[in-house]
Amino acid sequence: MKILIINAGSSSLKYQLIDTADESVKAKGLCERIGIDGSMLTHKAVGKDDYVIESPMPTHKEAIKLVLDALVDADHGVVASVDEIAAVGHRVLHGGLKFTESTLVDTKVKEVIKECFPLGPLHNPANLMGIEACEAAMPGKPNVAVFDTTFGMAMEPYAYLYGIDPKYYEKYSIRRYGFHGTSHMFVSGETIKFGNLPEGNQRVIVCHLGNGASISASKGGKCVDTSMGLTPLEGLIMGTRSGDMDPAVVQTIANGEGISVDEVLTILNKKSGVLAMSGVSSDFRDLGNAAAEGNERAQLALKAFRYRVIKYIGAYTAAMNGVDAITFTGGIGENDFTVRRDVCASLEYLGIKIDPEKNSIRGKKIEISTPDSKVKVFVIPTNEELAIARETVRVAGLA
Ligand code: AMP
Repeated sequence: MKILIINAGSSSLKYQLIDTADESVKAKGLCERIGIDGSMLTHKAVGKDDYVIESPMPTHKEAIKLVLDALVDADHGVVASVDEIAAVGHRVLHGGLKFTESTLVDTKVKEVIKECFPLGPLHNPANLMGIEACEAAMPGKPNVAVFDTTFGMAMEPYAYLYGIDPKYYEKYSIRRYGFHGTSHMFVSGETIKFGNLPEGNQRVIVCHLGNGASISASKGGKCVDTSMGLTPLEGLIMGTRSGDMDPAVVQTIANGEGISVDEVLTILNKKSGVLAMSGVSSDFRDLGNAAAEGNERAQLALKAFRYRVIKYIGAYTAAMNGVDAITFTGGIGENDFTVRRDVCASLEYLGIKIDPEKNSIRGKKIEISTPDSKVKVFVIPTNEELAIARETVRVAGLA
């Protein structure tokens, strides 16, 4: 069975066609500059030459039409007709308080996605456009919304509530939601399976370390806590985001610089993190090179990033009264062995020991802890598209 996965951004649309028989990717691609001059589609299909089309895409509707045309194209396509696509799975950023599960899309669901625009102002409108474009292009085909926030909806109130008057929760739905939920769900589940963790409430900490970075604690695959909050700004120091901070910093910068709260928030989201701390880059490869050449700001930024990861692992171990497995994922977690090495070196108190040789392997599903380590440590590449495909099959009742 073939499932189309759509991840729509405001001016872009990523897609994958996944064959659920062997969970392989048959084709994938990207529409760029939707609504802007110079729109183009890059399409890659298994066993076919890459295909680039420059064609106007004033809206997501034209983008979806080009994607479907590419999928059925005689030379570059992978299906004879769109009828072969059983369902479409959509990545949706924010499900607000209403969605605690992935959901089959209907009119009501679309209304709620719209109600959540204030919580996900950049992503939710684009996600809805992607859904509506698929509905128009493939009438009657099941569309499933898989929310980035659903994993975090399993948190208990004492974990998700901020220490503020509950009237703000009632009025504005202010709580900790957590993001990268699809990745945390997938990787925690894979950790339990791959690690052969004994049945029960397996206590797993997933470190999703990429340009955006977050850590989750889960028991038996259910989220206990996760480091991002109302928005993806909370938690770890990231590529360009500050992570945890005293809110008074916002006031101090706004008053000091004579700028608005919104402007400070833009700085904290886009011009902070290791980028600002190092003055070099948000990319860990550049930071690693600069640090190796003796750049002290880059060295400090990397140390601060790792320190925050170590602190969260300690906090989440305490929150679960122990931990059975820790898994690294995301661009940094999967590839940067120095981050894993330095983080694990500070976890000796948990009886964690890693095998340096296994840890030096890149981007592969592997256990990096030694047989006598008290906690298993893994690297598991994340695969959000596959997680969405599996959810789509389950929710659309196609299993
Ligand atoms: P993501 O947002 O998950 O795509 O991750 C992006 C981050 O992963 C960037 O900071 C990259 O520098 C980092 N990354 C990707 N490949 C490597 C690598 N081979 N070594 C170190 N960092 C890497």
